[in-house]
Amino acid sequence: MERIMQKTNILNANPDILAGIVRSFGQKEFRARQIFGWLSKGVESFDDMSNIPAALRAKLEEEYYIGLPKVIVEQQSKTDGTRKCLFEFADGARVESVFMKYSYGNSICISSQVGCRMGCSFCASTMSGLERNLTAGEMLGQILKMRNITGEDIGHVVVMGMGEPFDNYDNLAEFIRLVNNPLGYGLGMRNITVSTCGIVPMIERFGRDFPQVNLAVSLHASNEERRKQLMPVARAYGYDELISACRSYAEKTGRRVTFEYSMIDGVNDSVQTANELASHLKGWQTHVNLIPLNKVEGRSYNAAVNSNIMQFKKTLENAGIAVTVRRTLGADIDAACGQLRNR
Ligand code: SF4
Repeated sequence: MERIMQKTNILNANPDILAGIVRSFGQKEFRARQIFGWLSKGVESFDDMSNIPAALRAKLEEEYYIGLPKVIVEQQSKTDGTRKCLFEFADGARVESVFMKYSYGNSICISSQVGCRMGCSFCASTMSGLERNLTAGEMLGQILKMRNITGEDIGHVVVMGMGEPFDNYDNLAEFIRLVNNPLGYGLGMRNITVSTCGIVPMIERFGRDFPQVNLAVSLHASNEERRKQLMPVARAYGYDELISACRSYAEKTGRRVTFEYSMIDGVNDSVQTANELASHLKGWQTHVNLIPLNKVEGRSYNAAVNSNIMQFKKTLENAGIAVTVRRTLGADIDAACGQLRNR
């Protein structure tokens, strides 16, 4: 472990950085593109890079390591192919990732931080606070490792696991550039979704930097007061300010905003609440994703009952708002985000 920690995770390197590395070893630059290609294939050892000269592989091995995470716990649904992994990085930091199968293809939900400091009152990931940010290579590593484990292509990435991506913006941005790079994984920008709890200034910046990447916003409430009770971030950025930033994002990028809405029994699941929510979202490009709350140990909230969820959905639909209820994937292994790690 000690020795590994003195080395650098080569998964953080883009082709330009790799070019500098191979040049410093007295090698030709095209080797950088080859190495980047191998890394994006998910090789676990420099020895697997079969067209790289042995001497260069040995040099790389001396100074770098391939920072794919280790699998600590793996759960697999017997019914729908969902897999949930607790991953561990070289320093012992642990995060979760979930692989899901949809009609449009396979998707992975990755984490962006170890823990989270946002303090949302219904969430398990924040219970021990923020441990550290993940690097771009560690975000990429979750996808590569999951593809190695499942043996299946992963064509959609959602940054919605543990952590607040906009609280780690520079690494998130570098991750998006890495995974999108056509010399490597080559994932289309439109196949990436980033979910924020509502850090308003970053929404504007994200719209400018990555207008083709999908934006999801955890809303969970229909007014300022209720949102403040559920999410401390709402004390820093008011409800109207958030809605107006999302609206401006939709106008500037021409893309709809998805609002994530966890349905909590007796808290935010009434018809009156649905009408209030509709009044904010009517008339512009939005989509509401209703999520039956996952019960978190140590938290008092319960999931809304199905009849309330359906009534809530109908009320939004009647107001002309696109709405879906999140399909419950991996019901037999289900646990709220952060629960594997907290256990
Ligand atoms: S819901 Fe997201 S932003 Fe809020 S505490 Fe959990 S991980 Fe952090």
